[in-house]
Amino acid sequence: MKRAAVAAACGAAAVSVARRVARFRPPEVSPAPADLEGLDADAAAARLAELVRIPTISFGDLREVDAAAFETFRRRLTELYPETHRVLEREVLGDGALLYRWPSGTDAPPMVLMAHYDVVPVAGQEWSRDPFSGLIEDGVVHGRGAIDDKGALVAILEAVESLVVAGFTPDRDLYLSFGNDEEVAGVGAQSAVETLTTRGIRPWAVLDEGGAVVSGVFPGVPGQTAVVGLAEKGLLDVELITTDAGGHASAPVRGGAPARLARAILRIEDNPFPARLHDVVLGMVDALGRHAPTGYRALFAHAEYLRPGLAIVLSKASREANALVRTTVAITQLEGSKARNVLATRARAHANIRIALGETVQSTVDRLRRVIDDPSVDLRVVSGNDPSPVSRADNEAFALVRDAIRSVYPDAAVAPYVMVQASDARHFSQVCDSVYRFMPFDLTRDELSALHAADERISVAALHRGAGFYRYLIRHL
Ligand SMILES: [Zn+2]
Repeated sequence: MKRAAVAAACGAAAVSVARRVARFRPPEVSPAPADLEGLDADAAAARLAELVRIPTISFGDLREVDAAAFETFRRRLTELYPETHRVLEREVLGDGALLYRWPSGTDAPPMVLMAHYDVVPVAGQEWSRDPFSGLIEDGVVHGRGAIDDKGALVAILEAVESLVVAGFTPDRDLYLSFGNDEEVAGVGAQSAVETLTTRGIRPWAVLDEGGAVVSGVFPGVPGQTAVVGLAEKGLLDVELITTDAGGHASAPVRGGAPARLARAILRIEDNPFPARLHDVVLGMVDALGRHAPTGYRALFAHAEYLRPGLAIVLSKASREANALVRTTVAITQLEGSKARNVLATRARAHANIRIALGETVQSTVDRLRRVIDDPSVDLRVVSGNDPSPVSRADNEAFALVRDAIRSVYPDAAVAPYVMVQASDARHFSQVCDSVYRFMPFDLTRDELSALHAADERISVAALHRGAGFYRYLIRHL
């Protein structure tokens, strides 16, 4: 497509997104309460604990991966959920991604529930409990992966197993796509997408990890908020490199490689990307506003007209809020001369960039070049992908996710949002316009900050509600 055509297409897409998001409204009537029949909270916690004990750790260097642990995990799943494995078809894709199909006997487009069973390493972290003991203490399951993402995987399987036992069959095919390499941005989920696509299957909706049920995170909004990701930011890694003739450090030159690199970094820091309120963030502000006290509600009610001002307010409110409204640049690595007394012949900085919706890898690189404004600074793209498309919030699939949330969290405000991290779901957003990113667990601030860090844990009660969420979802497909 020519540039103008692309711009026109993007413009049209933006208008339709605005309409879809604007039409997003909380439900007037509460959905039926979740039926937790057939779900056993303590047994689920014990099964999760057992799966946490299997150290399925992902490493960027594949030689470090313990393939036997992944094999054990897959085998143990078949033993812990025998009825699921009796009724659902199961395939192992590539190096160990799992793809299940629960046939419905109808030709309605299927739903895909995603999770991943690899976890991040624990090296260098100070845990108060053994991260792979799967200890259950005072109603809490401890260990790496308790939430991310074995927690979600177990909640899905608890729901499926209980429904198979009850003799239930879903109204549309249900696929379970469990990745084995999400934490290293591997190919597991991609191969699931390719497998379905080559079979001519386009999902009706997809649900993966992402937002959660949180409290006290949004200023002025009391009670619980369930944030459902409709899109995710793009991810771009670039290197900034300056070079020089070098020489002895006793006779330095002005404007050497490190100085020019430092100046480039400061220019980036002093010229942040513009803050903009994208339609999805506006939809979030709108949904939250309905649950805020009157003063806030009046402000939120006029969000559409206050866009530029609100974008600035959010950008100053917190690092997290800032990340929602603009492209962010983090300089993560710096390198100069190898020796103390030798001038650098080469200085290098690594920038990890999260691209806001509405921008692209190309527009981001172009702006960085303009801001740096120095041809002697070489800007190299290491890897990059554009932000994901925006999923719909005005359709039945989103309404089902919302109702399932409200069946277990009846008082929660449900709000769309933009994920600032990358997830496996982005692969599905190329073939489906209803890809949602949400983990059905109510998590405290402390529990959220333990993701990928020390003392990851989940309460047995949250795990139980999560299984209830998936059960409601599957029963109402
Ligand atoms: Zn995860």
